[in-house]
Amino acid sequence: MFDLIIIGAGPAGLAAAIYAARAELKFIVLEKEIMSGGQIINTYEVDNYPGLYHMGGFDLAMKFREHADALGASFVTGEVERIEAIPAGKKVICKDGTEYETKTVILSGGAKHRKLEVPGEDALAGSGVSYCATCDGAFFRGKEVAVIGGGDVAVEDALFLARLCKKVYVVHRRDTFRAAKTLVTRLAEAENVELVYDSVVKEIQGKFKVESLVLENKKTAEERTIALDGVFIAVGMLPETSAYKGLVELDAAGYIVADETGITSDPAVFAAGDIRTKELRQVVTAASDGANAVQSVERYLAEVN
Ligand code: NAP
Repeated sequence: MFDLIIIGAGPAGLAAAIYAARAELKFIVLEKEIMSGGQIINTYEVDNYPGLYHMGGFDLAMKFREHADALGASFVTGEVERIEAIPAGKKVICKDGTEYETKTVILSGGAKHRKLEVPGEDALAGSGVSYCATCDGAFFRGKEVAVIGGGDVAVEDALFLARLCKKVYVVHRRDTFRAAKTLVTRLAEAENVELVYDSVVKEIQGKFKVESLVLENKKTAEERTIALDGVFIAVGMLPETSAYKGLVELDAAGYIVADETGITSDPAVFAAGDIRTKELRQVVTAASDGANAVQSVERYLAEVN
């Protein structure tokens, strides 16, 4: 019987592991991927984590992991299927049948890429359609690509791709970006970037690989077909909470309802990082969530023990 199982080893889960180790809790970190770090392992640069200017996302993830390892945290690979109540707390059941018993759980599994749900997207995934510019951008060196979306990820991806590609179209469904102003200014200054406002993707075309993108201007209903080699989709994330329906309260978008204490509708279950309802999903806020959630776990354990 563990005091705590941390599910998900992104910045929130890794920060929670560091705090749990220092609190001398009996715990493990369960992560479905072989690699710790969550979304940031695919982020080219994390430029706003205090004290680590120009830090590579992968390198930052490794630093978090090394820190947790140095404090003796144990990591186990496993994908959670469901969590059941038992008299002493919770039973965590993994898809491979492995089961763990614990007094408390921190859910820190983050979020995954949202799809556009347009014709051609699935058929051409991996053949010119990508959800990760830093992973796949190098394949499009000297070519023409489009980035879809208007958030931080879309703009960061477009800036990254503009360094490699001949031309980058940024297609956004509105006429103002959601992304940070400094990023948008840099994007507007990039010579090989064309901003396509008020437009949505109707179809991604291509026989064996991406050949063109069909757009519709929402204001004029005009259609435009752009010949290109790659489409990078960056239209936000979906929280990884399907295993937790019925366990804790979720909001309409599927995020776990919790404030910065991490306390959820179930007193033995806590949420940290991108998986919970919050204003600002950043590495720094995820790490802070991990710390707060462990403090809430300690308070809960002190009450029930
Ligand atoms: P996001 O901020 O939610 O932006 C998603 C973008 O995609 C929005 O511009 C949205 O349009 C658009 N969109 C959503 N669904 C669409 C659809 N079906 N068709 C077309 N466009 C669609 O998501 P994100 O950029 O992935 O960022 C996720 C979180 O991570 C954010 O909180 C962000 O600030 C954070 N982040 C932080 C850093 C950093 O710390 N440096 C880096 C990257 C991301 P609308 O604007 O019209 O809604």
